[in-house]
Amino acid sequence: MNLCVVGTGYVGLVTGAVFADLGNDVVCVDTDAEKIAGLAAGRVPIYEPGLEEMVARNAADRRLAFTTDLSAAVRRSEIVFIAVGTPSKADGETDLSAVEAAAKDIGRALDRYTVVVNKSTVPVGTGELVREVIARHQVTPVPFDVVSNPEFLREGSAIEDTLHPDRIVIGAPTQHVAMTLLELYAPLGRPMIITDVPSAEMIKYAANAFLACKISFVNAIANVCELSGADVTQVVKGMGLDSRIGRDFLQAGLGYGGSCFPKDTDSLIHTAARHGHDLKFLRAMVEVNRERAGHFVETICKALGPLDDKVVGVLGLAFKPNTDDMREAKSVEVIDLLLAAGATVRAYDPVAMDNARRMLPPSVVYCGSAYEAAEGADAVALVTEWNEFKFIDLERLRSVMRRALVFDGRNLWEPERMHRLKFEYHSIGRKPVIPS
Ligand code: NAD
Repeated sequence: MNLCVVGTGYVGLVTGAVFADLGNDVVCVDTDAEKIAGLAAGRVPIYEPGLEEMVARNAADRRLAFTTDLSAAVRRSEIVFIAVGTPSKADGETDLSAVEAAAKDIGRALDRYTVVVNKSTVPVGTGELVREVIARHQVTPVPFDVVSNPEFLREGSAIEDTLHPDRIVIGAPTQHVAMTLLELYAPLGRPMIITDVPSAEMIKYAANAFLACKISFVNAIANVCELSGADVTQVVKGMGLDSRIGRDFLQAGLGYGGSCFPKDTDSLIHTAARHGHDLKFLRAMVEVNRERAGHFVETICKALGPLDDKVVGVLGLAFKPNTDDMREAKSVEVIDLLLAAGATVRAYDPVAMDNARRMLPPSVVYCGSAYEAAEGADAVALVTEWNEFKFIDLERLRSVMRRALVFDGRNLWEPERMHRLKFEYHSIGRKPVIPS
């Protein structure tokens, strides 16, 4: 099939590359001319395992192309995906300006029947808005349909998730329109849910809010564990083996960040309020998440004393492992608080340092490795649980530090091991290890 993907970010680029890999002819469109020029020259602007190779392979085979010319791309396509960003406004409402701008341009370009698919995460009712915007800007009054096909990929495993999604949700106005998407996705052989547009839009928010709640729930339990002497990792094991609960998304830590959970929970709360409903429990879960970084830095201050003349090595900056995405990364909050308390921060991340430089205060010292970040440090704070850190040589780490003190924001290391290695070790929801 001839496809067009509008918006060439984490979702759009991965979607375009995977559809091309499945044998479709895909044109990816973006308003960012620099990004498009880079992609056309073979430069992938984001870190995502396997993406560079997939883009290169399909571009070389001429199944994947990049352009800023939305009009030409739309006119050659049977299906047009909208995969532009939908950030939050200050009050939690979703900013739909990019979606509306894309819809407007698509409306102007349409010259024959086309299926327009919303892949961006948008509040319930946006399908209707997109339909109305397209209709209002049509130059040639040809029929079209708007479908909701929310995306569930996770950064860091985006290709794998796109090739093997747990389910594919298709919200379409009629069965006939849904068939177009069904046919496109058939090669993946994954379960598909065919539903109406508003339900598909809501599925995405309900799923993300539920996952965010699992994370906040376990973090709230971790707080109680810290106060009462229980071990949250044991608690989670005992809870997670209950098949009604499951172990996924029950890791205590610094909470969720990234470009989805924070904005999607805020958006759902805002949508509910717009309909006159107060989603109190979700507001409470969001609050639990907001307190995580502050709680972590408080623990650091308690153990280390005033931070004025202290050096803290921060390991991991990306909002989670295997991505360079810094949007809503907990590292930003943690580092801001450490700096405000007077600490000197030496930071290292395997791939997110370029993006981090654009977001963090200039006083942060960037280092070439975890060992370099720990050099002369009074403490190391682990913020992102990269595998590289899990398998780090902890003895070597200790040997370069001024003081053997570790704060583990993701429960990456085992307290027994840290005890054996003579670290003072503070983690989340577990008893601290204090060397005798
Ligand atoms: P992104 O910010 O990485 O990419 C968005 C791209 O859209 C940018 O390259 C931008 O230049 C481009 N763009 C903006 N306006 C445009 C326009 N009018 N025409 C053409 N291009 C335009 O965003 P993302 O992370 O890929 O997210 C896209 C959507 O997918 C969001 O709604 C997000 O909530 C949702 N989503 C994201 C993820 C994720 O893990 N990143 C997962 C599931 C769903």
